[in-house]
Order: sequence, then structure tokens, then C-alpha cells
Amino acid sequence: CGIVGYIGYRDAYPIVLKGLKRLEYRGYDSAGIALYDGEDIRLSKTKGKVADLEEKLEKEISTSGSIGLGHTRWATHGVPNDVNSHPHYSNSGDLVIIHNGIIENYESLRKELINRGYSFTSDTDTEVLVNLIEDVKKNEDVKLGKAVQIALNQTVGAYAIAVFDKKKPNEIVVARLGSPLAIGVGEGEFFIASDASPFIEYTNNAIYLEDGEMAVVNKKKDIKIRKINDDSIVAPYLQELKI
Ligand code: GLU
Repeated sequence: CGIVGYIGYRDAYPIVLKGLKRLEYRGYDSAGIALYDGEDIRLSKTKGKVADLEEKLEKEISTSGSIGLGHTRWATHGVPNDVNSHPHYSNSGDLVIIHNGIIENYESLRKELINRGYSFTSDTDTEVLVNLIEDVKKNEDVKLGKAVQIALNQTVGAYAIAVFDKKKPNEIVVARLGSPLAIGVGEGEFFIASDASPFIEYTNNAIYLEDGEMAVVNKKKDIKIRKINDDSIVAPYLQELKI
């Protein structure tokens, strides 16, 4: 399983697609991509290989947009099928998430969310997490980064996630605990991936998030990293990739 993301000035689709192909060695059963074209999120996903996704996606959606999230899934909760594949939308359709890992307490969170009126189309733990983030954001009237932080502090499990909100389409929020997450830092662009292979041709500068850290990257040359559990700020540690 793997995740890839891009935010910047280039076309996201070829970067994300090629990135998913580079992460194929990690093993997976399904793949999906969400693109934001300045107006809306367009999403295509399928059980099968990245090549299957490529064929389906290019028939299904427009591939334009300079923000993208891609995922290869190794099913843990819910069988491998199109619906359970990532990315997953929140109920409002505003948020979209990709997730590697497991949210162990998803069942109790799911029940609470159903009591609050949420519904679920998939059997995944991931769809619970994206709706929990949406619920926190709505109830506490906080920014996406804060909502992700509060929601993650209610979860038990392991994750590398990237979350995008079409209501605030200039940033992507990422976080990790127990699953790897690298951020490629360019000039006015950021790359997100399970390892550096999807972005080495674009930048030599990478930040490897540590377990328990989250970051907000945006279209400017801006990255903010903090600890998920105690709110302390972490200074970005930029590493030079040697190829
Ligand atoms: N637990 C999630 C699912 O089953 C993510 C699995 C993964 O790491 O790909 O959909």
C-alpha cells in the first residue's frame, strides 16, 4: 500500500499516477486518485492494478488540476472492491482522504457518527476517520489542520494520511503514526509519498515526518509541522536526497 500527493503549479495527475506506479512494489489490491481542478474534486478508483485505474480514470474524469491525492490499498477493513478503495469522501463531499494503516477503534467511532446522522457507503475504517474529521471541523468550528489533530487524538491505530478540503483548496494536511510519510519540498510545490521515489526527479529536498507528527503544506512555500498529541511545533528538518 502507498500514498502519493501533490500540491503546486504542475498538472498533478501524471505525477500522482507515476508515483503510484513507483510504489507498486509495496503491494496492493486497489488504487484510486482524487484531483482538484480549481472548482471541484474529481475522483476515480478501482479494485485492481494502477494500470486498471489509469484506463478507468481517463474515461471517467477530467485529469486536469494541480492538486492530487493517490492511493494503493491493502485492504484491512472491508473486502477489496471499488467502493472500499480510496480516496474516500466525507458525507458533505467537501473532504477527501487517503489512508494507509488501521483505525482500531473505528467501530465505536462509526456508531457515534451514525447516531449523529452520518452514513457510510464503504466498510472501511478510513471512511469513519474522514467523517470524524468533518464532524470535529463542523462542531468545533476549527481549521482543517486542527480538526485532523483533534480527530486523530480520538483514534487508536496506525496511519499515514493526507486530507484535502475543497472549501480551503490551497492546502493538504498530512499526518503519520506507524506508517511512513515523506514530503518533497520544491519551489512553490510539495510532494507527499510513502517514500521519496515518486518525487526524486522533481526535488532533492525531503522532510521525513516522524511518528506522531502532522504537517500542513500549501501552495506557497510554507510548511507547518507539529506534534499530534501535544500541539508543540516541530522545526522542519530538511534532508538532501542523494541519488
Ligand atoms: N485500513 C484501510 C482500509 O482497509 C487502509 C488500508 C491500507 O493501508 O491500504 O481501507
